[in-house]
Amino acid sequence: MAEARSGVRVAVVTGGASGIGLAISRRLAADGMAVAIFDLDGESAAARAREIEAQSAGRAAGFAVDVTDRAAIDHALGEVRAGLGAPTVLVNNAGLSGFDRFLDISIELWNRLIAVNLTGTFHCCQAVVPAMIDAGWGRIVNISSSSTHSGTPRMTHYVAAKSGVVGFTKALALELAPQGITVNTIPPGFIDTPMLRAASQEGYLDIERSVATTPVGRAGRPEDIAAACAFLVSEEAGYITGQIIGVNGGRNT
Ligand code: NAP
Repeated sequence: MAEARSGVRVAVVTGGASGIGLAISRRLAADGMAVAIFDLDGESAAARAREIEAQSAGRAAGFAVDVTDRAAIDHALGEVRAGLGAPTVLVNNAGLSGFDRFLDISIELWNRLIAVNLTGTFHCCQAVVPAMIDAGWGRIVNISSSSTHSGTPRMTHYVAAKSGVVGFTKALALELAPQGITVNTIPPGFIDTPMLRAASQEGYLDIERSVATTPVGRAGRPEDIAAACAFLVSEEAGYITGQIIGVNGGRNT
């Protein structure tokens, strides 16, 4: 396998073409990993991967993958194994947000939010874990949401899905710990990304007011999440599993 040949760890980052996922992809590449970006927009994923390769010595590649589509995940993983090596690091970051009154949520919308945020995490873990078991080593980080601490009005679908990610993380961590695989979740809070800007533009979030109520006095940066993620996927984080590592400027304690 390419990973075994080169000794370079291979990471898959879903939703890696934008926001938090892009910062994580850049950081893991800077830390010496080969990075596979899975995103809905394959051209954007490939373009971001080329930028990463230009900026770091490492390898990167982008793939058009909808994380709700197991066949697309498996197909892309075949290309990752052939081109970069077998992945033993997985960051489930792809997410879909939404603001809808509870009584207005159609079953189709409910199912889509659950599919992207929760079932997508399930699919990617199930697809990548066998390579981790083979390697006797693995790191999984699931990006959930600080809304799972606090609740958020008009986000019952999203908060339910992300809360599912938290429970999934804890259960999978216990099951995989004997195989050298850690599973943790980072619930971000108030991170300045296209998703956050869209919520602000649609009138669901007042950025200035949110900064004023954030103990550290600023919005989070995607790099803040990337730094925590980089630690959780490192060698030295091997005794940390099943944990919820909040990165939220003190908004939730
Ligand atoms: P973002 O800038 O919108 O990035 C999310 C990325 O995921 C986008 O590239 C998006 O593609 C992609 N994506 C969406 N659905 C996908 C699917 N089905 N398959 C593959 N890729 C998909 O958002 P972000 O703020 O960086 O969010 C990253 C993660 O953090 C999400 O899970 C989000 O729920 C979570 N989070 C963020 C915050 C925050 O304050 N920003 C707070 C709590 C949790 P398109 O752009 O093409 O849709």
